[in-house]
Amino acid sequence: MRETDLSLYCGVTDFSLLRREMVERQVVRRGVRDPRVLAALRKVPRHEFVPEDFRHHAYEDRPLPIGQGQTISQPYMVAAMTEALLGPGPVSVGSVLEVGTGSGYQAAVLAELAARVHTVEIVPELSARARRTLARLGYRNVRLHTANGRVGWPVSAPYDRVMVTAGAETMPYRLVEQLGDGGRIVVPVGRGPTQSLVLGVKRGGRLVQRRLFDCVFVPFVRGREGPAGG
Ligand code: SAH
Repeated sequence: MRETDLSLYCGVTDFSLLRREMVERQVVRRGVRDPRVLAALRKVPRHEFVPEDFRHHAYEDRPLPIGQGQTISQPYMVAAMTEALLGPGPVSVGSVLEVGTGSGYQAAVLAELAARVHTVEIVPELSARARRTLARLGYRNVRLHTANGRVGWPVSAPYDRVMVTAGAETMPYRLVEQLGDGGRIVVPVGRGPTQSLVLGVKRGGRLVQRRLFDCVFVPFVRGREGPAGG
């Protein structure tokens, strides 16, 4: 019997053990090495961000449903995107903008690595639930906004980093505009069922882009461009 099975069998789930295993098997073995990212993934209690019925699946190697037809990304995807976003260190990241709060898990990971995180979600129910989860866990450096993130969150710009966790058809230039000089943006770009994860680095007003790997994200909701309420 594996340790994982044993902890479930005993009726007491050792989530921190599952989390350490998740990082070793799914993240380190696939090549994510940044110690800051690994430490954040070992720390953030992923099971707190998934619906009750899925708690015991929280550390598995896959995305999970979070309601409203949306999903929390696979742990490896969170790790790889975060590593690409941070870039070579050591750097102190001031502010980050995330578009697509979903469960709030990625925002919590970012909150471990940056001074301030702004995260924008278009579905009010998801935003409200993420707000409660992050407050319960004591994350005070995350600001949640219920709005259409296609236009970013201009009032708090510029950001040092921008992460998009929904698929965009093309590089979202409204978000690039809100990136400071030397800033980095990570975004799934593509028109088909799969996208390419693209890293952009802004230098002197230009965005140098690099395709990282293929990924599958739910597409951006187009919606109107004002606040979605809440
Ligand atoms: N980062 C999330 C997972 C993202 S799933 C997590 O850690 O759980 C993609 C999210 O983007 C969904 O919650 C979806 O509602 C949201 N979304 C889609 N289109 C959006 C838009 N135009 N503006 C803001 N959020 C959007």
